[in-house]
Amino acid sequence: MNPRAASAILAARATAWLSRLSGRGASSLPGLVARRIDPLILTRLGQELDWGSVLMTGTNGKTTTAAMVRQMLESLGEVTLSNPAGANLIVGLTAAFVQRRGGRRQDRPRRALLETDEATMPKASRELKPRVITVTNFFRDQLDRYGELSTTVRLVTEGIAFLRPDGMLVLNADDPQVASLGATGRPALYYGVEAEGAMSPQGYDTVDARACPQCNAPLIYETRYYAHLGHYRCPRCSWSRPKPDIAVQRWDRAQQKVWIRVRGEVRAFAWLAPGLYNLYNEVAAVATACALDIPLEVAQASLAKFRPAFGRMEMVMAGRKRLWLALVKNPVGFNQVLAAVAEDADESYAMMVVINDRYADGRDVSWLWDVDFEHWMPRLSPQHWYISGLRAHDMAVRLKYAGLLDGSARVEESIAISLDRALKDVGTDTLYVLPTYTAMLEVRQLLSQRGLVRHFREG
Ligand SMILES: [Zn+2]
Repeated sequence: MNPRAASAILAARATAWLSRLSGRGASSLPGLVARRIDPLILTRLGQELDWGSVLMTGTNGKTTTAAMVRQMLESLGEVTLSNPAGANLIVGLTAAFVQRRGGRRQDRPRRALLETDEATMPKASRELKPRVITVTNFFRDQLDRYGELSTTVRLVTEGIAFLRPDGMLVLNADDPQVASLGATGRPALYYGVEAEGAMSPQGYDTVDARACPQCNAPLIYETRYYAHLGHYRCPRCSWSRPKPDIAVQRWDRAQQKVWIRVRGEVRAFAWLAPGLYNLYNEVAAVATACALDIPLEVAQASLAKFRPAFGRMEMVMAGRKRLWLALVKNPVGFNQVLAAVAEDADESYAMMVVINDRYADGRDVSWLWDVDFEHWMPRLSPQHWYISGLRAHDMAVRLKYAGLLDGSARVEESIAISLDRALKDVGTDTLYVLPTYTAMLEVRQLLSQRGLVRHFREG
């Protein structure tokens, strides 16, 4: 191996060891160190993979979708290189590679499956020359970081230019901006939802991209599942939704099953994580499995065992309480989580919303005004509301405008105090906890410290 690369890996490992020693756990720092010493390190290590890399990008769902595909690969007995959720910038990707290299030949990964931030796509793709790129959806997310949606689409398009010549795209046909990436001319597998009568209740959709990506005319929708995802066509230039190769045909919430057509054949899959957006994650995972030549039986068996990662619509038992955690990070995601709570909730439950505004959450919390709380407040009837986090007061004001009565919520910036109070009040009932990203990390730590939840799957 190239001496520069070798010393980059050594230095990165030493950094990782030191940061573990200081109790800071895994971080992207080893990746930063490795890239300083050898700027070509990611390219070099990427070339060592027999099969190649899969990049998974998009606003929502990439963590869950990647976790589903990873589980399929693991059940095939494959060692897979992947990055922890959130470590999806170029240093995080590099850290994943430098820490996994080495060992016996049979322990070396054949493929890398990497969740990649949209803004990182051009760089990650240039360095790794991916064999598959999966794109989930484009929503307005963390506007203060990326600017307009068109910028995001442009960045991902730049990334696609570096797809290997034998590579393949996996695209959400129901998202016009994602589907339009097929115009790059690269081979693409499209996935989507085709179930009849599955339109979302009107009134809580946020208005996002709905202009034709080709000519900018407003798109006409025959069916809309949520937000701008659905069946659309352009009245001006006749561009329309591509026919998906892999499509959800119907689902049954009681049976926890979903029927997916895969190239003409309909098969039943377990559907364990509620919410329409998890349905999209699942069909994205099945489509990616097709692009990776994973047998469908393997996909079916591993989805039946799949549990969502911590904080992604997961139900955990904390003693005799049911805790249900769902990350909220943008208006569409928040609306979907509220829809799932309204569907799921028993008679007696409490709601806890935890809003931080650290860098990873997005510094600007004005997006809370784009969540349709006005629609959801009459459909939610928790015993108590707990509002917490650095921006607890902004959240309280938002809910007040949506009809939350004075005095019916407990507003407390300290997450520790708020969580303890909620856990005490809720008894054996269910507590729904809806945190932003850094708030979720804090909730996770608090639950571990209190010995309430023993172990979490990283992700
Ligand atoms: Zn058009």
